[in-house]
Amino acid sequence: MYDVIVIGAGPAGCIAAKKLGESGYKVLLTEKMDLPREKSCSGILIPKSIQTIEKEFGKIPESVFSHPLISKGIIINSTHGKEYRFESEGYNIWRNLFDHWMSLKAEETGCNLQTLTAATGCEEEKDHVRVTLARMPARNHAGFSKNRSPTISYEKAKMVIACDGASSRIRRDILKSPPNHIITYQTFCKGSIDLDYGFFHAFLDPQFSQYDAWFNVKDDYLVMGVGVKDASLMKHYHSKFVSYLKSHYHARIGPFKKEEVGLMPYITPEFQVNLGKGRVLFAGDAAHLLNPMGEGISSALASGYAAAEAINAGCDFENNINPVKVLDSYEIYLKEEIEYMRRQWKFLSSICPDFTSFRDSE
Ligand SMILES: Cc1cc2nc3c(=O)[nH]c(=O)nc-3n(C[C@H](O)[C@H](O)[C@H](O)COP(=O)(O)OP(=O)(O)OC[C@H]3O[C@@H](n4cnc5c(N)ncnc54)[C@H](O)[C@@H]3O)c2cc1C
Repeated sequence: MYDVIVIGAGPAGCIAAKKLGESGYKVLLTEKMDLPREKSCSGILIPKSIQTIEKEFGKIPESVFSHPLISKGIIINSTHGKEYRFESEGYNIWRNLFDHWMSLKAEETGCNLQTLTAATGCEEEKDHVRVTLARMPARNHAGFSKNRSPTISYEKAKMVIACDGASSRIRRDILKSPPNHIITYQTFCKGSIDLDYGFFHAFLDPQFSQYDAWFNVKDDYLVMGVGVKDASLMKHYHSKFVSYLKSHYHARIGPFKKEEVGLMPYITPEFQVNLGKGRVLFAGDAAHLLNPMGEGISSALASGYAAAEAINAGCDFENNINPVKVLDSYEIYLKEEIEYMRRQWKFLSSICPDFTSFRDSE
């Protein structure tokens, strides 16, 4: 029996597993992909994320950075062409390398990291949770494996932290709720454009996306992306956005070298954060924690950290865990974070009322 099973080795899962491992808990960190895995992301670490990472994981290795190394902040372009510039120095990293580094740091604390292992269900029993795991066979050097059917096994834990991202299967199963996410589509190409490469540029005009559209730079690549609710429209919006960048900012671009589809939680004005039920806590995107313009690493780290601290608070000297105390503590620890997030969304709708109204019309 594990003390805690952490599902998903993104920022939320890695920090939770690392904190719990350091406190001496028996932890399983289960990740459905092989690592390092791709994660569609702009890879901007805001100062708050950097602070937490440097405190909890140490200095970020140079190998995970992309250029420009320093992100100067964000420029938001509202529907009426009004520009809002927020300067704040952050870092620009590649998520596959960054997350892999964090997962190895978690593993160093003694936690059992199992890759290619998807959690497919969580059933709460009297004093534990039974987690169903589907382990994919390892691939050979060419990327193939003869037998592609997963091996099913079960593990028990006193608590589970679901950090399985925006489309969290565990959250949907437990809350019996339908998926609720934005689909993102971004392309990488070489070229040039008359926009400041040091900033992340967001465009809220609804003719370019059903959420937001963005431009940023990673190494030699110009990255252009759109967020949509209806996946069948992503290329349509993307091509309108690219045409706009060509006509307004003189984008001169080559063919797309890479295309990425990703997910982020769909934040509605009701702002439905859910932190868990019984012995299962949700953290990061799985809890629907996301800041405006899709900044979610800072809240993934804050919630993964808080979940681990809450388990500490709910654990007695004989290593029994009181799930009610854990969930209460978790809610208390994250109260300020959530209030801050709400204020940020409110602020965004105050400077860009159109953003709220087109999201409202869904
Ligand atoms: C296009 C795009 C751009 C973004 N840009 C930024 C940015 O610049 N800065 C920023 O701060 N945020 C950004 N975000 C948001 C950020 O990526 C997320 O908020 C953050 O990754 C959330 O971390 P997480 O640990 O909750 O989930 P994730 O990072 O999504 O990690 C979840 C992990 O769980 C694994 N998993 C999923 N299901 C299972 C399962 N059943 N069993 C086991 N493992 C499972 C996944 O493989 C993954 O490794 C962006 C998001 C998108 C889509």
